Amino acid sequence: MSLSPSHGDRLAAAKLWLISTAAQPGPDPPRDLPYLARALYALVPVPTSEVPRITCDEHWRVYINTDWIETAPIPAIGAELAHLTWHLLHDHAARARDLRVDATTAAHWRTASDAAIEHTLRADTLSPDGLPTADDVGLPAGLSAEEYYAVLSGLPAAIGDNRHGRLTEPGCGSGCDGLTRSHELPPGLDRPGADLAHIGRDDARQIRRLVAIAYREHITTRGTKPGDAWRWTQDILEPTIAWQPLLGSAVRRAVAWTNGNTQYTYTRRSRRQSAVPNVLLPGTRRPVPNVALVIDTSGSVDDHLLGRALGEVDGALRGLGVTGSSVTVLACDTAVQSVTRVRNARDTTLAGGGGTDMAAGITAAAALRPRADVIVVFTDGHTPWPHQAPPGQAVIAAILGRPEHTLPPSPDWAKRIECRL
Ligand SMILES: [Zn+2]
Repeated sequence: MSLSPSHGDRLAAAKLWLISTAAQPGPDPPRDLPYLARALYALVPVPTSEVPRITCDEHWRVYINTDWIETAPIPAIGAELAHLTWHLLHDHAARARDLRVDATTAAHWRTASDAAIEHTLRADTLSPDGLPTADDVGLPAGLSAEEYYAVLSGLPAAIGDNRHGRLTEPGCGSGCDGLTRSHELPPGLDRPGADLAHIGRDDARQIRRLVAIAYREHITTRGTKPGDAWRWTQDILEPTIAWQPLLGSAVRRAVAWTNGNTQYTYTRRSRRQSAVPNVLLPGTRRPVPNVALVIDTSGSVDDHLLGRALGEVDGALRGLGVTGSSVTVLACDTAVQSVTRVRNARDTTLAGGGGTDMAAGITAAAALRPRADVIVVFTDGHTPWPHQAPPGQAVIAAILGRPEHTLPPSPDWAKRIECRL
């Protein structure tokens, strides 16, 4: 069960067309995408008559209709290979399982993941036949498959739409949606002597890593970064540590630092006093610290993300017994719009919506009476900052943004936590 030599040649030609540089100008020159090489040469071709063109399973096998590969133009074969390879690089099968994609929603997932891939491929001047665009979905280009799917799966099933296909149809294969088709081989068909291999999870992980390194260089050289594929390289190469625990621990450390600054006092007796009855030991005074939350309400801050960041800080403060009147919220755009004392930071109503100047917010927070010990600033970071730290106050800068963005700098004197959607 392997491709005939002539079909193998056409497949090899399509891979070369994708990765090599054009020797001379022509109507459909090679695409110069060497970053795909690792993945393309890992694919295991399986001839079949069960699919109209070509599909993949999640073990990196590509099922190829032999009539199709015999007659399809090499660039069309190349474009399909790149399309399926991106399903495998993105691990769309596992992601579909995470979303509990099933036979009733598989068509939506296929459209969603294809629309995400289409945007990546278009930047490399590849356009496989019939791939839906973000426009078709009615959403901006560059989003993830999950984002498209969220919208699509809320819509009625597109029965009768021949582009979507139903599960009984091959679609892009289980390499797209994790749902095994009848023509697909079982995993792990690696018996000795068998000429059929598959790519296991560890090998797949290694291939993704190598392609991500090469791809990052490719798009850096090219100068444009398709959102979804750029996020993918970041996820593969620099998996981000969840920001929530970092923000919580920054708050706890700031409060601890405040307590460390507390003077020893003789007004409260040490709990060790009974051990040394004739000497009066100093006790530490541990007042509840005052916390000011400065919130950028300039409209460029994502409300959902802001809510999560506030929730994290609330949780940390509650755990430390810092609640109610010791928390002040300052809503700020170019100037402080409102100052409220709240039980729960998330309960606050935020005013504002113009430009951004967090320096005004921090200055106002620093001037509060009673004095704030800890100031937490929530902003997208596109703001001026004070030149110096407010003296004796710990400042945390929670910079809110999207995963693919490089977030703006913040001053060294503020503890920076990047919070991403
Ligand atoms: Zn697809």
